[in-house]
Amino acid sequence: MTVSRISETKKADKPNNYFLILKGAKMDKYECICGYVYDPAKGDVDNGVNPGTAFADLPADWVCPLCGATQDNFKKLD
Ligand SMILES: [Zn+2]
Repeated sequence: MTVSRISETKKADKPNNYFLILKGAKMDKYECICGYVYDPAKGDVDNGVNPGTAFADLPADWVCPLCGATQDNFKKLD
């Protein structure tokens, strides 16, 4: 007889971006109008954004650390 413990491991508390790091999903870089590039792999540690945070998952009040532009001034890099 096999007892599955999967339901227990699923409850493990991990930050949202943990899965993004593993999957490599949504890790696109975004460039500000001033030339600053937001790299999800690096985040913006000086402003409380952990490495692995996708651009889409940035706090709503996050702005460009260089020029203060809001997120809608950023363009996705290929
Ligand atoms: Zn900027």
